[in-house]
Amino acid sequence: MNFDLVIHDGTLVLPNENLVADLGISESKIAEIGKNLIGARNIDATGKLVLPGAVDPHVHLDMPVGATRSSDDWASGTIAAACGGTTSIIDFIEPEPGQPLLQALISREMEANGKAAIDYGLHMTVRDGLAETIAQLPGVIAHGCPSFKTYLTYAGFKLDDAAMLKVLESVGTLGGLTLVHAENDAIIEHITHQLVSARKTNPAYHPVSRPASAESEAIHRVLTFAKVAHASIYIVHISTADGVEELARAQGNGVIAFGETCPQYLLLTEAEYKRPDFEGAKFVCSPPLRTEFDNKQLWKALSEDTLQSVGTDHCPFNYFGQKDLGQDVFTKIPSGLPGIESRLALLYTFGVRAGRISVNQWVDLCSTNPARIFGLYPQKGSLLPGSDADIVVFDPNRKVVLSSTMLHEHVDYTPYQGFQLHGYPVMTLLRGDVISEEGKFTGQLGSGQFMPRWVEDLWSNKNIRESQI
Ligand SMILES: [Zn+2]
Repeated sequence: MNFDLVIHDGTLVLPNENLVADLGISESKIAEIGKNLIGARNIDATGKLVLPGAVDPHVHLDMPVGATRSSDDWASGTIAAACGGTTSIIDFIEPEPGQPLLQALISREMEANGKAAIDYGLHMTVRDGLAETIAQLPGVIAHGCPSFKTYLTYAGFKLDDAAMLKVLESVGTLGGLTLVHAENDAIIEHITHQLVSARKTNPAYHPVSRPASAESEAIHRVLTFAKVAHASIYIVHISTADGVEELARAQGNGVIAFGETCPQYLLLTEAEYKRPDFEGAKFVCSPPLRTEFDNKQLWKALSEDTLQSVGTDHCPFNYFGQKDLGQDVFTKIPSGLPGIESRLALLYTFGVRAGRISVNQWVDLCSTNPARIFGLYPQKGSLLPGSDADIVVFDPNRKVVLSSTMLHEHVDYTPYQGFQLHGYPVMTLLRGDVISEEGKFTGQLGSGQFMPRWVEDLWSNKNIRESQI
């Protein structure tokens, strides 16, 4: 049998083993793992790692935030993702207050349609626990969006305890998955008011206003709600050792709880906020960067499977023209960092090369687990025959110094400027087509497809996690 394409002699990173073999691709799917396969087209991957395309479950492209929008749109953001080895993203729908959820879903899909260069799914944001909102959830699920984002902070989005419990229970009953941004709003408001009143307004006070205890309290509370509601839950962007401890305890008590962290919480610390002038603003994200001890405990949680997922929370704002909206007071700095392009490579150098996680865990955390958790597996996150031929050829010996000029993210800085990487993606394929090669985008805008996802495919509904432990 001749294949459309064969990737030869790479080291395939499979769930529990690494195998030097050929990968045969036909009709956009992985067709066979074998030796001496013959393809109409052939790629030599000798000495390279071959892995399933990375899945980023947490990005914000073209997202309105106060008076501005995140600086990557669906075109530039997905080009950057492709060049970094990410072939699927899940972004968010943020309905206006009172807007029908399905209407918001369709208009968000229209924004991506024709622009996205990689495949994409959408999480629906739920802003209240009103009966008329809850009644719309089945329609959203039927449209292929079974995951719902909630916030415990931010005016206009914050759910109070009763609403949070109601949403968790309703989504859980429907077989969906609730994502939570867990920070205690009262603590943040209280401290922020004190700081601003005392004219402590520069970026160095941003982390002071959102202490670790604000996160761990909220994580503890929402995990308790998940237990009471018999609902599965996914905590986004966990930044603290205390937060991870709460998660581990709940998992030990039988709560189906997944945890995500992001490269910034593994690799950067709150020392960045003390940079001179206004430069600390480049690192303003919520929750904020923490301490080296937190970094260390988050790595440990990844290696022990307490945290299952690494997303980016990519939400870029230019330093000049956007971050500087908060020149006078840190509360007005648009909150978010870029990172959609460098996740896979950062986690390889500082995770695999540093001996903190295995190469198989690296692929699990950046690809397979997010695909499983959000109902994309085995179409995505897998190299097994039948999966989409979304593939990364990764050169473990390539040395790269990260800089905003080499990245494709549409933003005027990177928080990882000057980071020395040892290992980098050299080719990305989406459904069998080469969409990036040697740092150049070679795909087509608009070739990304909406990925509908179904409740029966969510990991929490498949008991896969239980059977693996
Ligand atoms: Zn986010």
